[in-house]
Amino acid sequence: TPIFRAQITPDYVPDSKFYKVEAILRPWRVSQVSSALVKMGIRGVTVSDVRGFGAQGGSKERHGDILTYLCYFFVLPSSFLGMIKGSEFSEDNFVAKVKMEIVVSKDQVEAVIDKIIEEARTGEIGDGKIFLVPVSDVIRVRTGERGEKAERMSGGRSEISTAL
Ligand code: ATP
Ligand code: GLN
Repeated sequence: TPIFRAQITPDYVPDSKFYKVEAILRPWRVSQVSSALVKMGIRGVTVSDVRGFGAQGGSKERHGDILTYLCYFFVLPSSFLGMIKGSEFSEDNFVAKVKMEIVVSKDQVEAVIDKIIEEARTGEIGDGKIFLVPVSDVIRVRTGERGEKAERMSGGRSEISTAL
């Protein structure tokens, strides 16, 4: 169970069947977040290397241990370069972050937000932020399906609930 939860929101405005959970996170926490999401049946995730500033401003990014560096170097070279670029090795004031975008149906939003907080939070400035964006429709390019049919994924919510 998460120690910290998002505070309860009355309802989302504007109302939508689907929402995009857009999370700006520390690069070295992303693999932990995504494996936790996969475990709860979230199969569709898009990630990008981004740089930004917030309260953390141009202050130095906290980094993981040497093992984290090695993981990034061998497994995710682009993220490794992003870490170097936005860190104390760089002259600019932007901090390297990863943006995760996850489109889910309305009833999955709170669980996804809680999971991201649980896995991404260190308690230090720079943990990131989550934006919630209503999504009008989802269209699967391969089939032309729209809405719920396009949003549902194999290994996702419907298959998990039938397995219970
Ligand atoms: P299919 O047409 O069989 O569903 P596909 O390969 O065309 O397969 P997906 O693999 O479902 O399509 O998705 C392609 C890309 O779209 C993914 O790599 C991911 O970046 C993004 N994506 C898919 N679903 C979501 C989602 N729900 N939220 C965020 N990004 C998604
Ligand atoms: N809602 C989808 C499902 O349960 C999963 C959405 C996603 O993986 N982002 O099948």
